[in-house]
Amino acid sequence: MRALVAGGGGFIGSHLVDLLLGRGDEVVAIDSFVTGRRSNLSSAIGRTGFHLVEHDVTDPIPDLGDFDAVLNLASPASPDDFARFPLEILLVGSTGTRRLLDLAGDRGSRFLQASTSEVYGDPLSHPQGEDYLGNVDPVGLRSCYDEAKRFGEAMVSAHRRVLGTDTTIARIFNTYGERMAPADGRVVATFIEQALRGEPLSVYGSGNQTRSFCYVSDQVSGLVALLDSDVSGPVNIGNPTEITMRGLAETIIDLTDSVSTVATVPLPPEREGDPSRRCPDISLARAVLGWEPVVGLRDGLLVMIDHFRSVELSG
Ligand code: UDP
Repeated sequence: MRALVAGGGGFIGSHLVDLLLGRGDEVVAIDSFVTGRRSNLSSAIGRTGFHLVEHDVTDPIPDLGDFDAVLNLASPASPDDFARFPLEILLVGSTGTRRLLDLAGDRGSRFLQASTSEVYGDPLSHPQGEDYLGNVDPVGLRSCYDEAKRFGEAMVSAHRRVLGTDTTIARIFNTYGERMAPADGRVVATFIEQALRGEPLSVYGSGNQTRSFCYVSDQVSGLVALLDSDVSGPVNIGNPTEITMRGLAETIIDLTDSVSTVATVPLPPEREGDPSRRCPDISLARAVLGWEPVVGLRDGLLVMIDHFRSVELSG
């Protein structure tokens, strides 16, 4: 298979590149490197069948040949990015998605849209199944990402209906693992970095808010199972084991043997609209893809902690 991975230099995108190359696919990765990092692709660069194109998919996409699959993972995704790059996020979610969809339609490729649990907003239904329509503030600080991803889903659905493009939509829930940047702003990377430095772990607000964390190898195996299927989605891809942020902080202190304490700090203003609970219902993924996550939180965290330690040691 020949695959185009937009956002191939990102956290999840680069793991997807490695999985596809590992099974013998040819992969072209496109990235603008606004938030993606070239270092995420160090194991792919130089490998047979891998090509890297530095390009912003909001600009017209050059002719890169035919593709069996087009995977759209291009977007900044950390809540810290929502304050830094709101216009870029809206543009890549709209114009970028449109350009990639047109390319897939022209070339007869299967198109996978990386959507998000953020389409559910601050959910009033728990756990979140794909039929829950969401509770999203259209003008709040998170709206650039939430609404861009909702618009993306609408665009994918219209392309499929009107032009017959072979599309699918994955709703990705919180994912963690190596290659998350230590300064990413997302909670797992932040807590591990703080624990390794012996600094207090910055639990925002009450710490009773929950998330459900999926290890990145599980996430990308779910995405590829969806790509290889004929399911149009949307399908939730995530790990349904739910934990409070206070519980996560305590677990990370324990696993790192850190002297750090848990510090409760007020929710920063740029985190306005922080969802209070989030947990995927993955019955659909289990039923139609035969997929479910296999890496437990403590095991995944230990691998990520080792990785952060080795990055710090190497400088
Ligand atoms: N969070 C926290 N301390 C931090 C960073 C995040 O307590 O230093 C909380 C944040 O308020 C949210 C949860 O951790 O409730 C997950 O945040 P993250 O940025 O990882 O992703 P989100 O699920 O909000 O997109």
